[in-house]
Amino acid sequence: MKRRASILGMTFMATALIAFIACNKSDAVDTSPTTTSSGNTGIDPTNNNPTVENGVPEVYKKIYGATDISLDGDYVVITCNGLPDHKTPYYLDTEWESALYEAYNGTNSQFHLNPNRITQANLVFRIPLNPTEAGNKSTTPMGPIGVSLNGVPFYNQYAAGGAALTGEINSFDQYNGHPMQMGGYHYHIEPTYLTQNSGRDALLGFLLDGYPVYGPIENGKQVSNGDLDAYHGHAHVTADFPDGIYHYHITDADPYLNGDGFFGVPGTLTQSY
Ligand SMILES: [Zn+2]
Ligand SMILES: [Zn+2]
Repeated sequence: MKRRASILGMTFMATALIAFIACNKSDAVDTSPTTTSSGNTGIDPTNNNPTVENGVPEVYKKIYGATDISLDGDYVVITCNGLPDHKTPYYLDTEWESALYEAYNGTNSQFHLNPNRITQANLVFRIPLNPTEAGNKSTTPMGPIGVSLNGVPFYNQYAAGGAALTGEINSFDQYNGHPMQMGGYHYHIEPTYLTQNSGRDALLGFLLDGYPVYGPIENGKQVSNGDLDAYHGHAHVTADFPDGIYHYHITDADPYLNGDGFFGVPGTLTQSY
């Protein structure tokens, strides 16, 4: 971690609060780029090839975008650089990034590029190996609330002050992600690169409480918010968890991913950019 940090010249630690403020500032009117991505040089996000400690359960190996997956007592520790492995207009059209730069070609006629450009993060998710329902449910923080299979974090359904995401949605790229002001790329809604590759009924990642996140289709049928509880999940057997497990579903309507907070006792996250 330290070695990577020094190589990349990362200079400051961010709190979730700063990330939250920055994310929402980022959705202001389009201006010229404010983030430089020089720290990305030499990293290939399409081939992170994670180091996986012996004993890590198979299901976590699906997080192919991690750089390291290990065990620490009752926690799975997932380290990611947060760089998407798909094309996006939020990569700078320079150096190696030109291979993953692609002008917006989605279907939203209201799309506007926000002023931020993607930079590498150092995200360390410590999620419970054996998730448990929380007695008192906690609200999700602003900033990362979970990790998707390609190592890009999930954010919750809120903009500044708990407002709806409406304004942010117009800056989502062709794969439904965008960067906040410090360059941290993230998804609030369905990560369509992952669902196009794995299927809309696939495991897409985990929230910080250790419970898995699935796509908007289940057993061939669209999952609606009405099929889910207040936290946006329910419990039954899945392909990855034959004994049954509580899990979240991403749906096509607000709140998209998480409802009133974490169903389980959340682990912890550290992040720097
Ligand atoms: Zn955002
Ligand atoms: Zn389900």
